[in-house]
Amino acid sequence: MEWQGLDGGLGVSSLGVGTVGLAGTVETLLYAFYMAGPVTLHPDAGTFSMHWLSEPPFDTAAVAARIERIYEVMCDFFGEPEPGHRVFVRKNPYPGNGGTALPKSFTFGWSEIEPPTVEELASLLAHETAHNWPRLDGEHGDIAWYTEGTAEYYSIVLPYRAGLIDEAVYLGLINERARGYYTNPLQMLSNAAAYELFWQAQRAQRVPYGRSLFYLADLDAKIRAVGDRSLDDLVLAVLERQRAGAKVGVDAWLALVVAELGEAARADFAAMESGEWVVSAYGAFGPGTPARKSATT
Ligand SMILES: [Zn+2]
Repeated sequence: MEWQGLDGGLGVSSLGVGTVGLAGTVETLLYAFYMAGPVTLHPDAGTFSMHWLSEPPFDTAAVAARIERIYEVMCDFFGEPEPGHRVFVRKNPYPGNGGTALPKSFTFGWSEIEPPTVEELASLLAHETAHNWPRLDGEHGDIAWYTEGTAEYYSIVLPYRAGLIDEAVYLGLINERARGYYTNPLQMLSNAAAYELFWQAQRAQRVPYGRSLFYLADLDAKIRAVGDRSLDDLVLAVLERQRAGAKVGVDAWLALVVAELGEAARADFAAMESGEWVVSAYGAFGPGTPARKSATT
């Protein structure tokens, strides 16, 4: 890609700054963000940087510092072999502060109508950053529960484990997700039915987030209750197989959970997928909470 001739401006993409040589497929170019013009680089070196055109109304240095720490913590946890992450900040002409992730990058928008605070952004940014890693292979409608559920789960638990947020903030984030999940009138749609409505109803888009967060927290509590393993072992095993070149879909996930918990794990998954309410097991979101087995012995 050639970005020369922008008259004092700069071209930045998910793939790098200025002219970038790469070997890849057309998808590599398709699934990347691009920003051109008087683009800000912050910081201007290292494996992490944030870019914007219109000056945002929030403390960009504070936001960049928060994302950088979250990114480092997640790189450690997920064993990122090639760290590198770019965040593109865009001014929206309408209300809305949402974000979208692509490989090694994400973008989020802000509006003058309801400018976000650093705290509000930290939660969104942690979610988008987590999208660098856990995913299952398959059609979007079949695997969105895993993509969004793991991003929700790890965006909350990893900053807490690393001490980036305290217990009060941690509980606040979980309760905020619980409110969103248990008050969504479309939450009893099956995953497939919610996906059908994805572009028609914002609440249908939210279905995979809460459902899967509480499913994964439940699963984690149940695995911890029977031994010294946890959800982390499963999620990291999926990632390891994918890095070795394997495709890991929903069937492979089911084999993993059944190996931990027996056939009951298959029933839990089917209930979640069909839209039954998920009520996480006692001890979910530990270890600040006593595990179920110690409460009964
Ligand atoms: Zn997401």
